[in-house]
Amino acid sequence: MRFTVNEKGCWNFDGPLDKAGYGKVSLKEKSFRAHRLIAHVCIKPLMSDTEFVAHKCDNPRCINPDHLFITSPLGNMQDRDAKGRGARGSKSPLAKLSEKDIHVIRGLYAGGKSYSKIAAGYPQISVGCIQAIVTRRTWKHVP
Ligand SMILES: [Zn+2]
Repeated sequence: MRFTVNEKGCWNFDGPLDKAGYGKVSLKEKSFRAHRLIAHVCIKPLMSDTEFVAHKCDNPRCINPDHLFITSPLGNMQDRDAKGRGARGSKSPLAKLSEKDIHVIRGLYAGGKSYSKIAAGYPQISVGCIQAIVTRRTWKHVP
């Protein structure tokens, strides 16, 4: 694979890019994402299909193995949230709650219910989740 190193140390793939801006490599009539191939070779040879290769540098064209890390789909989603872009809140396919639920949960806590009492009404999430919602460690964008 050919690439050009930029001032940030990114290895910018020299070749066709796909719609999302990832380098594309054709092997045996199949098309692969360049950074994923690099990760297969350099980071984790036996990667499962449920694992994603994400960029620390946020540059989809970059194939520097030092800038790549393996993550689960959920981790990838949280990474996007942390960077303030991509799916967030209830628009995320992995969201288990709606923004309305968040208001209800915070309201219940303000009304004197304990975390575990509130969690009992939401079997899909843990007490830790409730606490994180109430203390605004998660769902920060919901006022
Ligand atoms: Zn990079």
